[in-house]
Amino acid sequence: CGIIAYLGDGETVAVLLEGLKRMEYRGYDSSGMCVITRDGAKLEIEKQAGKVANLEQAVAGRNFKSNASLGIAHTRWATHGPPTAINAHPHASSDGKLAIVHNGIIENHSSLKKKLSAMGYEFVSDTDTEVLAALIRHVQSLEPNLSLAGAVSLALTQVRGAYGIAVVDESKPDVLVGARRGSPLILGVSDDSLVLASDATAVVGLTAKVVYLEEEDIVSCQREHDQETGKTKYSFSVSSMKRDSLL
Ligand code: GLU
Repeated sequence: CGIIAYLGDGETVAVLLEGLKRMEYRGYDSSGMCVITRDGAKLEIEKQAGKVANLEQAVAGRNFKSNASLGIAHTRWATHGPPTAINAHPHASSDGKLAIVHNGIIENHSSLKKKLSAMGYEFVSDTDTEVLAALIRHVQSLEPNLSLAGAVSLALTQVRGAYGIAVVDESKPDVLVGARRGSPLILGVSDDSLVLASDATAVVGLTAKVVYLEEEDIVSCQREHDQETGKTKYSFSVSSMKRDSLL
């Protein structure tokens, strides 16, 4: 239902919570977030049924990664599986190395799930979304040299349905990938952060510029550290996943 994702120098957890609250008017049944720190770079996920306030409390209760600099968050409006904490987003791959938030519906999720299960991937939720996490991990195992955006893009060629997604990978703490098809996604751009959101209200005041991604766009957000100047630079690249755009 609502997506907010952040790569930046600011207070990641606070920015994500604020974004979720601004999207509360859309309606939702549960919420969650996944954050990564640059050191250790281990994904940490917290999810709660009910109000964003429940998530906020849970996050405060466990002193959740105050130094995180990358994160994805979601308010869910359940389409596949009841509104429980387990079914809330983000969903991680079974090895815990990749996490995703998703708006929309993956129509061929059951056939994908069957194939991936037969290959040894495990699932803990009833959602269509969790299948995407496993699918992207599978693509990464087949094509280990692909960028995260490359793996997401290849995985999405196997998917039918509608989606706005944001993806993070524990081995890439300076990369945030988003993609959309049949579901809105915008990119907020400033000197010290890049923000993905499904709703403009979530980014107002956060970034100077907003880029409206087009249907079937995939965006890769990157952070680089210049050793010489000690400065941090943010950049992004948008490309189309449309097959016919090749001709
Ligand atoms: N189909 C997904 C689910 O049920 C996403 C729903 C949404 O857009 O919030 O978890």
